[in-house]
Amino acid sequence: MTRFGKIANRIESFRDDMINMQIKLCSVPAISPLSGGEGEVKKAEILLGFLKEMSPEQIEIIKAPDLDAPAGYRPNILAFFKGRDTSRTVWIMTHMDVVPPGDLAQWKGDPYKAWVEEGKIYGRGVEDNQQDMVASLYAVKAFRDEKIAPASNLGIVLVADEETGSLKGIDYVLGRTKAFKKKDLIIVPDAGNKEGTLIEVAEKGILWLKFKTVGRQAHASTPNKGINSFKAASYLVTELDGLYQQFRDQDPLFEPPISTFEPTKKEPNVPNINTIPGEDVFYLDCRLLPKFSIEEVEAMIRKVAKRVENRFGVQITFEEQQRAPAAPPTPADAPVVGALRTAIREVYRVEATARGIGGGTVAALFRRAGYPAACWSRTDETAHQPNEYCHIDNMIGDAKVFAHIFMRDKE
Ligand SMILES: [Zn+2]
Repeated sequence: MTRFGKIANRIESFRDDMINMQIKLCSVPAISPLSGGEGEVKKAEILLGFLKEMSPEQIEIIKAPDLDAPAGYRPNILAFFKGRDTSRTVWIMTHMDVVPPGDLAQWKGDPYKAWVEEGKIYGRGVEDNQQDMVASLYAVKAFRDEKIAPASNLGIVLVADEETGSLKGIDYVLGRTKAFKKKDLIIVPDAGNKEGTLIEVAEKGILWLKFKTVGRQAHASTPNKGINSFKAASYLVTELDGLYQQFRDQDPLFEPPISTFEPTKKEPNVPNINTIPGEDVFYLDCRLLPKFSIEEVEAMIRKVAKRVENRFGVQITFEEQQRAPAAPPTPADAPVVGALRTAIREVYRVEATARGIGGGTVAALFRRAGYPAACWSRTDETAHQPNEYCHIDNMIGDAKVFAHIFMRDKE
């Protein structure tokens, strides 16, 4: 049997242990204090115990201060295992925090008591991000148990605070560790598709804006005595659709290949039908191809708003709710992409391609810091939904993909 065959068999033998680990991790919901939880400390203890049993060469615990967390900090863990070539490391980074379950009535069971049904594990966090967290841990364990040295060093990174901005997670870690090297392979298995064919290497810039339109409230029977802010804002919404024309360039790396500008949330205005609303608030979600700057989009929006102000006699202000310029993309021929493609072909028998996506992932933080990171996972994308689940076969398969990358001798 090949060495990879041995490792793959070993991973198969972990199936029940991996399911049990998932159940254990679900029972300690690591919800951010910003979302009403205690943070990741209890979950980190379980994971730290597991990592220590594998005797890593080095373990680094980076505590980001957080006065809102009962422990006073948010834990981040880096575990390091030596390989034959010690000059580079394959890192797998996953996040410990989970989002709240939302409406419990929509769950078939207790989101914190994970259950197995027809080859799937259900529970909050089982997919996002525990599927690949558990996969990465047991991929390393397979090498330790088989006493096979990986081609290069292995690194496991478990971070806090991914769901609420990463300031106390990977953002904090990147400013404080020297563990990462430019030639390392960094994999963030926190995005993907059902087939496992999407290797995410680029992200669009994100701009979220809150628009406030102020007119004058009046009785609806005498609209001439007021200024209808809702009508002006609605006009503004349709004018903003022109951004699609203004910034219409395409980039085939991305799906969809264009920048998008979508009005989304709408705040209630007046409670009754017979009042002209004096104030209106709505939100716009913009996803920009990396070639467009946030500044040029905002300048265009200012012009459009001015036109609507003049036409209706309202005041329009807009403020940023989120602003994340696009990070420099990871090249589609980067070693991490090649290693992933080969491993995915071997394990899942499919051809994966490097693509860009519209959503933000934490890989952007690595890219901004100069490390070519890639996101990949085989997932049904049930993250944040009620009855979130993970295919057990995906958890096992992803572990084999990681193991294949750990095994490879060269890219
Ligand atoms: Zn996630």
